[in-house]
Amino acid sequence: MSTGRERTASGPFLDTAVTYLTGVGPARADALRRLGIFTARDLFFHIPHRYEDASTITPIARLRIGSDATVIGTVVSKGIIPTRKGLRVFQAVLQDSSGLIEASWPGQPFLDRTIKKDDVLLLTGPVRFFHGRQLVPREHINLGVGESGTGGGRVLAVYPATDGLSFRQIRALIEKHLDQYLPLFKEYIPVALLAAANVPSIGEALVSVHRPTSLADAYRGRSRLAYEEFLFVHLLQLRTKSLAREARVGLQFSNRRDLTSKLKQSLPFELTSAQMRATREIVADMCSDRRMHRLLQGDVGSGKTVVALFAALLAMENGYQAAMMVPTELLAEQHARTFTTMLAPLGISPLLLTGTLSAKARKAAANRLASAEPVLAVGTHALVQEGTQFAKLGLAIIDEQHRFGVEQRNMLGKKGNSESRPDVLLMSATPIPRSLALTLYGDLDVSVLDERPPGRLPVTTARRPEQAREKVYEFVEMQIAAGRQVYVVLPLIDESDKVALRAATKAFEELSGGRFAHRRVALLHGRQAAEDKDDTMRRFRDGAIDLLVATTVIEVGIDVANATIMLIEHPERFGLSQLHQLRGRVGRGAEESFCILLGDVSPESAERLDIFVATDDGFAIAEADLRLRGMGDLFGERQHGEAMFKIADPVRDAELGEVARDGAEQLLAADPMLMSRDHKPLHDILHRRYARALELFRVG
Ligand code: ADP
Ligand code: MG
Repeated sequence: MSTGRERTASGPFLDTAVTYLTGVGPARADALRRLGIFTARDLFFHIPHRYEDASTITPIARLRIGSDATVIGTVVSKGIIPTRKGLRVFQAVLQDSSGLIEASWPGQPFLDRTIKKDDVLLLTGPVRFFHGRQLVPREHINLGVGESGTGGGRVLAVYPATDGLSFRQIRALIEKHLDQYLPLFKEYIPVALLAAANVPSIGEALVSVHRPTSLADAYRGRSRLAYEEFLFVHLLQLRTKSLAREARVGLQFSNRRDLTSKLKQSLPFELTSAQMRATREIVADMCSDRRMHRLLQGDVGSGKTVVALFAALLAMENGYQAAMMVPTELLAEQHARTFTTMLAPLGISPLLLTGTLSAKARKAAANRLASAEPVLAVGTHALVQEGTQFAKLGLAIIDEQHRFGVEQRNMLGKKGNSESRPDVLLMSATPIPRSLALTLYGDLDVSVLDERPPGRLPVTTARRPEQAREKVYEFVEMQIAAGRQVYVVLPLIDESDKVALRAATKAFEELSGGRFAHRRVALLHGRQAAEDKDDTMRRFRDGAIDLLVATTVIEVGIDVANATIMLIEHPERFGLSQLHQLRGRVGRGAEESFCILLGDVSPESAERLDIFVATDDGFAIAEADLRLRGMGDLFGERQHGEAMFKIADPVRDAELGEVARDGAEQLLAADPMLMSRDHKPLHDILHRRYARALELFRVG
């Protein structure tokens, strides 16, 4: 059954590039690539993110005010209605066999171009009272003309789509090719494991997800695909972990309690019990003959730095060097200053190494590092550049580790002389639930600071509508008049986002030229040269700027105790964890601090943002973020360019994940390298699918 466009006469392959499929031209192939679909196999693994059927769709006549519902109806009339406030609202009246309802999209007049009379729409959103019943869609899908959607008891599969390729086109493409390719999917997971997990075979699963006869059928198919993702990830991790443990011979320090005890005595505060626990765990690692690979995670302000300092002193009292790499010059300077103060009573001064040091200062620093003198170096990626040699590196610390690429992280672990690799301590303020951390960072050990140092005032957090803007500005003005400083943050998804960049620039011009013309206002964004950014941040730190308009570049651990307001525009565009990081930039001094989310948002966004407003617990926020927006948002793209889980949700499917972990353990106990004939297909798929992920969490 050759389509004529297949590469060979011998029939289709799962690895066939999508361009060779009938119905896929260059433009569609491009669109598919944007969805991560390169081959026929990828196409069938592109599974619906949602299903609708009669059980999830409410007949229009039965919509109740105050409920949240999904309906399907035909557009019988439509138009743009101006409101008194100048907002333009797109409205459409929808009809199904039971009745009529008005749907209303405030501020989206452009929909008038794409939604036509007689189109069938699927809408989801709250039903409210406004001159009668009205639905305010959170989401809508245009099913086109004449599509009855789920009529006749069918289930409607809704696929993730992209510009130039609608979910309907994707569905048609899959429908067209599924029968032809299905026989090529041979089972690769042992039947006993599938039975134990109560999930179907791969062939059955693909039919169920793409052509479900019921919602239950669709979810059963999905559960198999989720199960296999868990199984694969656990297999990889158990294997890397056992290999890593064998191979990880490291330095063995001894706990001399010399410098570390001195630090303990001279600290102006008591360690929290979480800090003591983490320090003990780190000391135990460093004093064993295995190489340390530990992740220290704790919410912003939980006090990770001082824990790292104890580790550094342990290395130094054993005659070794320690290095801490941080993502920005400013943070390097900040840490160097902290360390200078803390280590002064011990007669030790840290060494700062950044790209902007003078050639002479750099040479001096390089000489000290090359001299085997026990030293604590703090710096940017200048630490891992070629010219920098460590004579005796014993400990590599990487702060805000998610800000670094895998390669950079690895490079610090590789410094030092070749017969003994330094111990590695990664630090991160993105709190991850413990069970998930184990899944994500399988070959790392994890310490958690789940306690805040005492005496911190919580940051007062509030959401304010656009209408309150002037009031908010008055409040900002009052704080500045009282000598405080303010951040105004705008979203910027990526550095090439010109529209957002213009928005930041515009906000800066408006504030500096208008409302705050009499104040010192500055602009900070990622497109500026590194020196300019650092210069601006330095001036802000030194109190020479009252109001700093910025994109998320300020997210990373900067400490300006005098800043008391974090004002966030378009808060709905941020992940909750990201908002939490931003909030952590204020509340660092003795004054009460405020985090204000400003602007009108959709009801759904409001619900999400209110979780953030209501709690100051980074772990709870991270968990909510995971549930609501998936993993991608929790981590910088850098770390998760290639997501480990596409289908499984580590939080929601936690139980399935545990069954899969048992399965993975059984498999490896019987066949550690998965080299038996029965396991060969599994072995091959594992390697093909996760080639890059395998590298992802390895250090040094
Ligand atoms: P983060 O975990 O965000 O990196 P830091 O290490 O910067 O947090 O610590 C935040 C602040 O809390 C610093 O000013 C630090 O000196 C202070 N701090 C750390 N531990 C304690 C403690 N046990 N008691 C009081 N203050 C502490
Ligand atoms: Mg920090």
